[in-house]
Amino acid sequence: MRSHLLNETTADDYRRCVTEGVERVAAKLASTDKPHTGISVDELAPVIAGIDLDRPLDDPAAVLDELEEVYLRDAVYFHHPRYLGHLNCPVVIPAVLGEAVLSAVNSSLDTWDQSIGGTLIERRLIDWTAGRIGFGPGADGVFTSGGSQSNFHALLLARDEACRLVMKNSEHTPSKAEVLPKLRIFASEVSHFSVKKSAAMLGLGYEAVIPVPVDRTKRMDTAALALELENCEREGLFAMAVVATAGTTDFGSIDPLPEIARLAAEHSAWMHVDAAYGCGLLVSPTRRHLLDGIELADSVTVDYHKSFFQPVSSSAVLVRDRDTLAHATYHADYLNPLPKEVEVGAPPVPGGLRGSIPNQVDKSLQTTRRFDALKLWTTLRVMGADGVGRLFDEVCALAAEGWKLIDADPRFEVVVQPQLSTLVFRHVPAGEVRPDLVDEANLHARKALFASGEAVVAGTKVDGDQYLKFTLLNPQTTTADIAAVLDLLAAHAEQYLGESLVFAS
Ligand SMILES: *Cc1c(COP(=O)(O)O)cnc(C)c1O
Repeated sequence: MRSHLLNETTADDYRRCVTEGVERVAAKLASTDKPHTGISVDELAPVIAGIDLDRPLDDPAAVLDELEEVYLRDAVYFHHPRYLGHLNCPVVIPAVLGEAVLSAVNSSLDTWDQSIGGTLIERRLIDWTAGRIGFGPGADGVFTSGGSQSNFHALLLARDEACRLVMKNSEHTPSKAEVLPKLRIFASEVSHFSVKKSAAMLGLGYEAVIPVPVDRTKRMDTAALALELENCEREGLFAMAVVATAGTTDFGSIDPLPEIARLAAEHSAWMHVDAAYGCGLLVSPTRRHLLDGIELADSVTVDYHKSFFQPVSSSAVLVRDRDTLAHATYHADYLNPLPKEVEVGAPPVPGGLRGSIPNQVDKSLQTTRRFDALKLWTTLRVMGADGVGRLFDEVCALAAEGWKLIDADPRFEVVVQPQLSTLVFRHVPAGEVRPDLVDEANLHARKALFASGEAVVAGTKVDGDQYLKFTLLNPQTTTADIAAVLDLLAAHAEQYLGESLVFAS
């Protein structure tokens, strides 16, 4: 029987097998003329359920043939210029190269003795990102699986920092259990749901997150934040963290970072900036100023897999003060024992190396961890930061053009002028139509478009009403694509309204 293990005797099999896979994917990418085939769950589910997992095919080529039927043919292709759905980017080739290398070598980034250069490369990229943010030499961070994990990690540090502060400053030294119910997190009403979910996972409950109203441009209203912070204090509660979003998921709006930093400092609250989406501005040759004030944060979330054109997953959480990362440190005898020369409470060694062995598990919520940093490394080494930033600039410029197009189109209304690359809009019928029908027509238009496979758009609600959303992350998308998709959406919505009105009369 042939060996499927990747080792010194199977290098040729590895080369043949992976090359065959690359050939198939390359052919697929070259021939997709739609982002999606429009297949339904009911059509595909029985095909996948019908595969007998206890009868292997043995032959990789046969598996690739099968994969065509169960996956490749009907996948949603983010590289297609008419994929305008969620925050998924087309990926850059140097990153896919990194992905192929990292999975074959399979380093694990928990400890130095499982990764060697991997650990140092990750640390360089963390330092590089911290430099782009404008953090000082005390900064640090770690790669994570995504923005949700980064936000959770940051809020865990914020929670434990708040507990430490409250316990230190109280006369009767309350227990952690007494402090937790009094902690509050402030985030705008259009912040990412992972903030609330994190609060729940941190033992604070959804209710610990105080939604702060936004202004007309969907940016946090800082006067409202100031009021909420004062209320919090008056009620004897503690402001644990203020979460500013630099690029909201729906609108791409960037909260006023300097003013939020000032208010957070005034109330001794941790400031977290969720830049999962807006982080692409860190490398933008023309728009970096939109992130001014981010350097005042205590922690920052970046999703390279959103605006750095990286494959999933690639994200990081960064902190201004590396000592705060110790809230997530656990020393396991078998993995990362406390070095003899470093006693608990000893000052950190410059460069972040506690003792001589850099073990990233000291900072991470994960143990075994992918070398996702390699993808960013190969990307920067091939394209440079400007190369990535220019791609993000292009989609921001496209969104500005798209806004003009929709704003001038009587068939649609658009919510806000974009700071980044999303457009939230809805179809509005020409005559008087019941509001619930307008909602239904927009929902229908999105579904019908998806089922046709011609394009993929997203949907969301604004003040309770149903809207449509373009997320533009593909520099290949043109204003002609946007115009064509608007026509398709209008046609679906009008057909639905026509049928509903005939049916009603
Ligand atoms: C996408 C997003 C997240 C979550 O990131 P994942 O990588 O999907 O976990 C968090 N915050 C914002 C603002 C986002 O847009």
